[in-house]
Amino acid sequence: MVKTIIDYEDWKNIEHLKPYSYTCGYCGETVGSSYGYLLKYHDDIAIYLCPYCGRPSFMENYVVTPGAVYGQSITNLPDTVQSLYDEARNSYQVGAFTGVVLICRKILANVAVYYGAEDGQSFIKYVDYLIDNGYVPEKSREWVDKIRLEGNSATHNHTSKNKNDAQRILDFVQMLLLINFKFNSDYNNSENNN
Ligand SMILES: [Zn+2]
Repeated sequence: MVKTIIDYEDWKNIEHLKPYSYTCGYCGETVGSSYGYLLKYHDDIAIYLCPYCGRPSFMENYVVTPGAVYGQSITNLPDTVQSLYDEARNSYQVGAFTGVVLICRKILANVAVYYGAEDGQSFIKYVDYLIDNGYVPEKSREWVDKIRLEGNSATHNHTSKNKNDAQRILDFVQMLLLINFKFNSDYNNSENNN
């Protein structure tokens, strides 16, 4: 996620702040930081520097921006799937929950096509394909049914409902990708042969 490790001490004129613990939105580490910049006349507004990756996070009323990225980082996915998965996690981070749901549906379609499903089908057909061909554990069928129903109404405007939907489908996509791409030896072997 983070390309260059920056030494936080290299930032100019850093100040000693009240220690604050948060999950860094850049590197994903949970850190305790006591360095950064304080806003004049305000005790609860500051910029904290991550001791791990050196990047700055803005803290106001104990809310840190950027927030933590949701889900696990997975690398070495097929190209399109990789960029979509990263985009879904980034969308979740900024609270773009409808976007998460739509991107995750696109990921499911891409993975199904990657495993031989016909292009241009409906979302439900792709999900069925993944279950019927064993890419999704049979036990998670109930979970999938929920996603199927919710996916059809990704347009509802209720934020907390959107958030739950986003979380559920992102969890599901994460599991699908981990099972099939991280732990599937066929894929790893074919990668090594290429
Ligand atoms: Zn960091």
